Amino acid sequence: MIQVYIGLGSNLENPIAQLDRAIESLKAHKDLHQVRISSIYGSKPVGPQDQPDYINAAATFMTELSPLTLLDLLQNIEQAQRRVRERHWGPRTLDLDLLLYGQETIQNSRLTVPHAFMLERGFVMQPLSDLAPDMLLANGKTVTEQLHQLDTSDLVFIKEE
Ligand code: ATP
Ligand code: MG
Ligand code: MG
Repeated sequence: MIQVYIGLGSNLENPIAQLDRAIESLKAHKDLHQVRISSIYGSKPVGPQDQPDYINAAATFMTELSPLTLLDLLQNIEQAQRRVRERHWGPRTLDLDLLLYGQETIQNSRLTVPHAFMLERGFVMQPLSDLAPDMLLANGKTVTEQLHQLDTSDLVFIKEE
């Protein structure tokens, strides 16, 4: 079993309900075990600013699924919630990103793990710190230490999951 961390985001069509629904899909999946969810936060969009604010969370679980099978599963959940990809970093009903797959480094045409931008994103590191504050990152810092280096002034606490 591998411990996986994922990031969840939404800024369209009742984002909190989108996240709740995605979380139910994760908890119900037979191949994902010991699912835990962070608190839920609001954040300003990355990239184009002419779109609604985001709702973000993180999740962790244990699984025996391979990284690409897991990406398929995450993309199936995105599709089930009618994600339409229009423009890069544009608005979306649901974004599920694979942040960490155990200690593995993965680089192929479909997957970069650890997620390429996770260390610089407050909306990723804040929920991650709810789940694993003392976990060591590839840069040698703990999640909490990394979080404290980021500007998180745009983040607002929304609710505990
Ligand atoms: P960002 O990666 O900056 O958060 P995004 O989440 O908006 O951007 P998407 O449109 O969701 O990007 O995904 C584009 C592609 O990224 C996917 O088709 C997928 O193959 C690829 N990808 C690479 N690494 C990952 C990862 N760690 N998790 C999810 N998708 C990834
Ligand atoms: Mg993303
Ligand atoms: Mg994505």
